[in-house]
Amino acid sequence: MTLGPKLHIDQAALQHNIKVIKELAPHQSILAMVKANGYGHGLWNVVSAVHDHVNALGVARLQDALMLRTRGVTQRIVVMNGFANAAELKACSEQQIEVVIHIPEQLTILQECTTLPQPIRVWFKINTGMNRLGFSVNEAPAVYQFLQNHPGIQKPIVAMTHFACADDFDNDMTYDQVETFYDLTNDWEVERSLANSAGVMGWTESLADWIRPGIMMYGASPLPHSSGSNFDLKAVMTLSSTIIAIHDRAKGDKIGYGSVYECPAAMRVAIVAIGYGDGYPRSAPSGTPVWINNKICKLVGRVSMDLIAVDLSNCPDAKINDKVVLWGPQLAVETVADYAGTIGYELLCGMGYFYR
Ligand SMILES: *Cc1c(COP(=O)(O)O)cnc(C)c1O
Repeated sequence: MTLGPKLHIDQAALQHNIKVIKELAPHQSILAMVKANGYGHGLWNVVSAVHDHVNALGVARLQDALMLRTRGVTQRIVVMNGFANAAELKACSEQQIEVVIHIPEQLTILQECTTLPQPIRVWFKINTGMNRLGFSVNEAPAVYQFLQNHPGIQKPIVAMTHFACADDFDNDMTYDQVETFYDLTNDWEVERSLANSAGVMGWTESLADWIRPGIMMYGASPLPHSSGSNFDLKAVMTLSSTIIAIHDRAKGDKIGYGSVYECPAAMRVAIVAIGYGDGYPRSAPSGTPVWINNKICKLVGRVSMDLIAVDLSNCPDAKINDKVVLWGPQLAVETVADYAGTIGYELLCGMGYFYR
């Protein structure tokens, strides 16, 4: 067994989760979101597992798309941030990389590039309330006409919008966004895309032609106070490490930096080789669950750069070099994130450095 921090990626779990997604959205095409280094799972680990089971791959940056082409990926790829200048547009055209169009400056560049090496596919982003990227509902009809008439743009274009509050099934914001989007695009000859994971899981009216699942593919839930297993999803990532020391501490002993944790009674404490330098959140407080030998134990004291301390009261037989799971199928990343005051997305994405 490998000692120390280890990241395991379960490609079969990725494929299982795609199957679950297809059960929820059997008639839709899938734009699999693999941005942020495959949500921290390693872009290539993810792409090699899913690419025969989805219809396109979504990355944030052109670099990632070009890298995938260099590695021989022929699948459709969409750059969510689009292109920033004529050179990037040309590269996308040459490499058959699809782009999101979201600002007027991109239209100017498109206008000046009437002769592209090859026709390009575009995803036309409309702002229906997220107020991040996209054209306003007022601007959109003229932009639609421009894109339809542009000879370098392959048809059909895909009209898309992004939800702000889809993880809250009681929030009418999503209804409003869906309605705004359909009202606007009703007469358009386009394919349509609205749903992220939360849309797929809770808003059937948002499924349309293309879904854009991210987090659920990795086995985590986008919804607060739930985990992927509530939806038959399987955790893809396991972050584990090993125990490097065990000590018996007395009542009143204080543990770690700042001496912020005081033992309420005599206890065995394991020191585990993981810390914020490995992507484990420093904000995780005492009491955050940690899995050891099929038992849930509790973190005690502050998280150090390469070490944490764990109360072994629930697992008195633990030994040096025993495996410790920080998150994975045994312990949902969403739970750990809740303790740490963040979301599973952030903890998963933080692991991307393993693959750089
Ligand atoms: C990241 C992203 C998604 C996926 O979101 P999840 O909540 O992870 O499913 C979908 N659409 C866009 C535009 C995104 O940026």
